Amino acid sequence: MKPDLFEAPDYYNLDDLLTEEHKLVRDAAREWVKRDISPIIEDYAQRAEFPKQIINGLAEIGAFGPYIPEEYGGAGLDQISYGLIMQEIERGDSGVRSTASVQSSLVMYPIWKYGTEEQRQKYLPKLASGEWMGSFGLTEPDHGSNPGGMTTNYKDMGDHYLLNGAKLWISNSPFCNVAVVWAKNEEGRINGLIVERGMEGFSTPETHNKWSLRASATGELIFQDVKVPKANLLPNKSGLGAPLGCLDSARYGIAWGAIGAAMDCYDTALRYAKERIQFGKPIAAFQLQQKKLAEMITEITKAQLLAFRLGQLKNENKATSAQISMAKRNNVDMAIKIAREARQILGGMGITGEYSIMRHMMNLESVITYEGTHDIHLLITGLDITGLNAFK
Ligand SMILES: Cc1cc2nc3c(=O)[nH]c(=O)nc-3n(C[C@H](O)[C@H](O)[C@H](O)COP(=O)(O)OP(=O)(O)OC[C@H]3O[C@@H](n4cnc5c(N)ncnc54)[C@H](O)[C@@H]3O)c2cc1C
Repeated sequence: MKPDLFEAPDYYNLDDLLTEEHKLVRDAAREWVKRDISPIIEDYAQRAEFPKQIINGLAEIGAFGPYIPEEYGGAGLDQISYGLIMQEIERGDSGVRSTASVQSSLVMYPIWKYGTEEQRQKYLPKLASGEWMGSFGLTEPDHGSNPGGMTTNYKDMGDHYLLNGAKLWISNSPFCNVAVVWAKNEEGRINGLIVERGMEGFSTPETHNKWSLRASATGELIFQDVKVPKANLLPNKSGLGAPLGCLDSARYGIAWGAIGAAMDCYDTALRYAKERIQFGKPIAAFQLQQKKLAEMITEITKAQLLAFRLGQLKNENKATSAQISMAKRNNVDMAIKIAREARQILGGMGITGEYSIMRHMMNLESVITYEGTHDIHLLITGLDITGLNAFK
């Protein structure tokens, strides 16, 4: 792969809106990606393997629980710092960002928000340091966009719960130490349970043959009469709103992360277009290529402003789920379109692993589908503005 010459575009001087802490956090993540991700990630993606050696580095840059209080091992940062970390990691690879998103927003967040003090003390410091890795089990083979229809269930056996069912498409599942699993009780109410590797009847087979997020491990969570201690139930929130609360936090991170992937594609295409000579001049001098590049930087700038404002609203606890849906949907769509245009600017070279663009493009096919599909987020906006439910 080519050396990482990334220079971040900042067309509207957004840096002026960031605090010194934001910039320090962002720059540390950026340097780490240049040093520890860019040189290795293409090989791991080609081999369809998660690079486990990066776990310590992710913990060191604060990517595991950026906004979780320091008393639980988190970085105690604000939401804009969290977003900037996600942006920088996804600039390297969406799969690596997925690993961090799951750990922070889908595993640490529910334990922090819905768990007991004992659960927080037991799990959060180990998850923040990367000593333990977590996964989040919501999607099932027959219930993706409609997770409320889930059939995974548990029964109260007196001194423990008995968990049965299966989850599919679970990031980090093949190597997770703990899984936050959403299941229905005997009354049909959804609750979160912390399942630990080693519990009898719990297995995590890996999903192979992916063309997307190849450097992220994906798999199943299978529960066959798993005895879960009662102390592992997350008691402080139940119903579908509980997993959806976690998804709000993760989707917010994706809205920033997608900007990173788009910035990398734009920066690569701009540099290539200025160097590649055809018909006696750089291809960047042709109007058709300038149109592509000019539209890319316009869309990136709009996405940056959307994410920044959403970050302010998150910091004030004012961001709504529908606002988060809009940003996730817009920014991922923006990134995937930029990846496709950037790929064309590189001509044949664009399809090779010498450059990051094709990897970003394929990764973004997952990002536009997981954590609520492109369609579902549009329906959320539709419901929000009309008051009419078009889901069913
Ligand atoms: C790489 C990867 C990692 C993932 N990681 C996780 C994870 O860690 N944890 C987890 O729980 N899940 C995870 N997922 C699952 C992901 O969230 C689901 O794939 C997603 O929610 C869509 O569900 P589905 O694939 O079953 O598609 P479906 O729900 O079957 O949707 C298929 C199509 O139908 C459309 N559709 C569905 N309902 C409607 C409707 N009402 N109106 C209009 N169109 C509709 C959808 O938009 C989509 O285009 C992951 C997925 C991938 C690909």
